[in-house]
Amino acid sequence: MRTFRDPALMQRWCRERKLAGRRIALVPTMGFLHEGHLSLIEAAKRRGADEIVVSVFVNPVQFGPKEDYATYPRDERSDLAKCRWAGATAVFLPTPENMYLPRHSTYVNEEDLSKGLCGARRPGHFRGVCTVVAKLFNLTHPDFAVFGQKDYQQAQVIRRMVRDLNFDLDVVVAPIVREDTGLAKSSRNTYLTEEERDRATAISKGLANFRSVAKLRRDLERAGLKVDYVECVDAGTLEPRKKPGKGCCVLVAAYCGKTRLIDNVVL
Ligand code: AMP
Repeated sequence: MRTFRDPALMQRWCRERKLAGRRIALVPTMGFLHEGHLSLIEAAKRRGADEIVVSVFVNPVQFGPKEDYATYPRDERSDLAKCRWAGATAVFLPTPENMYLPRHSTYVNEEDLSKGLCGARRPGHFRGVCTVVAKLFNLTHPDFAVFGQKDYQQAQVIRRMVRDLNFDLDVVVAPIVREDTGLAKSSRNTYLTEEERDRATAISKGLANFRSVAKLRRDLERAGLKVDYVECVDAGTLEPRKKPGKGCCVLVAAYCGKTRLIDNVVL
């Protein structure tokens, strides 16, 4: 397994592998890897990637000024061991300084699917996500890139960006990996106390037994969570749907203590 820190070297290696006829998969992450991330590497293997490039980069541009960029958990040694174990062939660990040169002034804005849900609560978040993912695409020239359904809106936004900007790659979305309790795995779960981790299971339980937005919101509040949003939307357009049913996605963002958790289910 190769590791790269310099974007130019990462790009050169991918270009060479591609010229050699190798099929490249990209798995973008912010590190502090867990089984959810590793399932994306597995999905890349199953789809026949010859090279699996995992990027580990906590992207400052997608965090708001009051968000957890500085405290976001990081563990490079463990991430490298997990990537090797899972079968990545290259890991890209750039620094913010190398990804965003002085006077960086070009950003990618998706202006439809990014509007609601997390986009409404985290201004500039998807602009940061689209920009870094577009850069990663240009650095690695993947045949396909794998994202998790855990970040449902993000996956839809990336799909749209790929279509609109003619990126020559497929977007693959892999299912949500959960703890035995149902809690969706997340690097941010490390912020939770035992007691919070317990209360947080109300989210996955509520989604699994979804009846109505009002009932789900009530169940979350009863569990002591502070609801950021509960919405039922069209799974493709992300437009609000009054009547939940087939083709809908129900999405939740809620604070458990200070930790913001997200989860969703497609009906
Ligand atoms: P992150 O490191 O949180 O930015 O996530 C990197 C990628 O892993 C994204 O495409 C996420 O959707 C995906 N991911 C994170 N958690 C999970 C999970 N529990 N199950 C499946 N995919 C996940």
